[in-house]
Amino acid sequence: MQVNGHRIPGTPVAVDVWRRMRGVYLYFLSHMHADHTVGLAPLWEHGRLYTTQRSAIMLAAKYGLASPRVEILTENETHVIPLAHGESMAVTVYNANHVEGAAMFLFDGYFGRVLYTGDVRADAALAAAYAGSALWDALRGVDLLVLDNTYASPASGAFPPRGEAVVEVVAAAQAARDRGKRIVLALDTLGKQPLLNALHDAGFSISYTVDRLNAALSDDGRPHPAPHTGPGPSAVLGVPKWSFGSYIKAMGDAVVGIMPSCYPPPEYTAASAPENVVVIPYSDHSSYAELEAFVAHVAPVDIMPIVGHVNTSLRTIFAHVLPPPQPSRPPPPIPQAVVEAMTAGFIPPRSVAHGSPPSSSLLAFDGLISYKPPPRRAQFASPAFVSIAKKGARLVRRPSPTAAASSRKRITPWTPSGEQRKRAMGTEIGLEPPAKKPRHLVVSSRASTGQALPRSVPPRGMRAETWARFCEVYDTIHK
Ligand SMILES: [Zn+2]
Repeated sequence: MQVNGHRIPGTPVAVDVWRRMRGVYLYFLSHMHADHTVGLAPLWEHGRLYTTQRSAIMLAAKYGLASPRVEILTENETHVIPLAHGESMAVTVYNANHVEGAAMFLFDGYFGRVLYTGDVRADAALAAAYAGSALWDALRGVDLLVLDNTYASPASGAFPPRGEAVVEVVAAAQAARDRGKRIVLALDTLGKQPLLNALHDAGFSISYTVDRLNAALSDDGRPHPAPHTGPGPSAVLGVPKWSFGSYIKAMGDAVVGIMPSCYPPPEYTAASAPENVVVIPYSDHSSYAELEAFVAHVAPVDIMPIVGHVNTSLRTIFAHVLPPPQPSRPPPPIPQAVVEAMTAGFIPPRSVAHGSPPSSSLLAFDGLISYKPPPRRAQFASPAFVSIAKKGARLVRRPSPTAAASSRKRITPWTPSGEQRKRAMGTEIGLEPPAKKPRHLVVSSRASTGQALPRSVPPRGMRAETWARFCEVYDTIHK
């Protein structure tokens, strides 16, 4: 599946990208659609994950991910998030008017101001919800707009506001009911909730598969049409979009199919659909005209697309509403503390809503979890690793299954030379093994001999200041 997410250039921040990336430790989830969650898994642990409350409910239901790994950012508030020792950024969370829990993020820090829309329906309803507020004004003139460009082309045509599409769906359902037909309605795993609510309000009994995401939401106490329980069949049968065709074929003329989509499967476009299928342009994404108005409001210095496969330049498409291009400037310098944190990798402390700046105390580093230098260099271990080492255990890196099979007969621990010991710095450091026995990395425990951490010699590849700071944190945690 396509990954519709990006790293914010020159920062430790990524939105909707879930692979481990060098220098990234703050991950933001815009919403729970599958193309924005590629790589999320129950054991995901590449950094701290920030999202909205409703997405967090679904995240817990689907992957079991929760606090403290996940931090909830309340909508329409500004949160201060520590980036590194003494450095922070502000994140303002907007409702993206897309699906349950979907958010836009406005990042503000040393890198300038970046608006990341995620998927957005920037229609009149969104503008009306924020009109006249300081939050809406705050979007103006950002340095970079990362835009949902799903329909960012005049060729994609116009489609009605979502409210109108809902009315059309209900009207089509009523017409079908008057002719004594059942209705098969194409749904997605997430979204289209307004359709279900409107049909319910119009007196239709509805049955549909309650998938995990929907189930999680109904647990939340939000009004949610109760699935039909009988007697007799329901008037509306909600089915996944991908299986819509097989229901229509199997049930034939006894049903009317409603396909609420601006991007239907090829056999169910308005032009190609059979007589008993109605295609209604319902969209959770912005139309071209809506994007145009949104870009004109935001008036960003620079603009980039979220959906990579649309091979067009947004700067050209929206040239008529964008401010004139400015001469290119060098990217803002990354503060030294952030550079070091990106090198060392850590999970910062929790953010602070509404602003007081984060404490600049050493505790700002209490989440230091791992040091990931280039391969074959010294390596920090986790606190658990350290505590095992303190007990005097020797830790052996597990060889790969093949390596284990080929060396099962004899595993010889590697003993560092005097010079290598000097660099070893005690319990945290694994050493580069000699070339002949690369598969077994043994860490000798200096702590087990009662010696303090030697401070004067940083491990190879690490700056002296970074090492000194680590030692301070180590003492804070272990005293
Ligand atoms: Zn989406």
